Amino acid sequence: MNPSVDHDLCIGCGVCADVCPDVFEIGDDGLAHVKAGADCEGAGCCQEAADSCPTQAISL
Ligand code: SF4
Repeated sequence: MNPSVDHDLCIGCGVCADVCPDVFEIGDDGLAHVKAGADCEGAGCCQEAADSCPTQAISL
């Protein structure tokens, strides 16, 4: 899995960072970012984060 966030869609709600804090964080720009070295397989929460995103901004 190679998670990414479409910043044209992200509204910075923070749900992904709540659901999957090992992989997603809210940056200084107020939008979600994938943490450096994030490991979806190890974290086990990327799919849930993508499914929880209200704007479908997360691609896996
Ligand atoms: Fe952005 Fe979606 Fe994460 Fe909300 S859940 S911060 S809209 S990527």
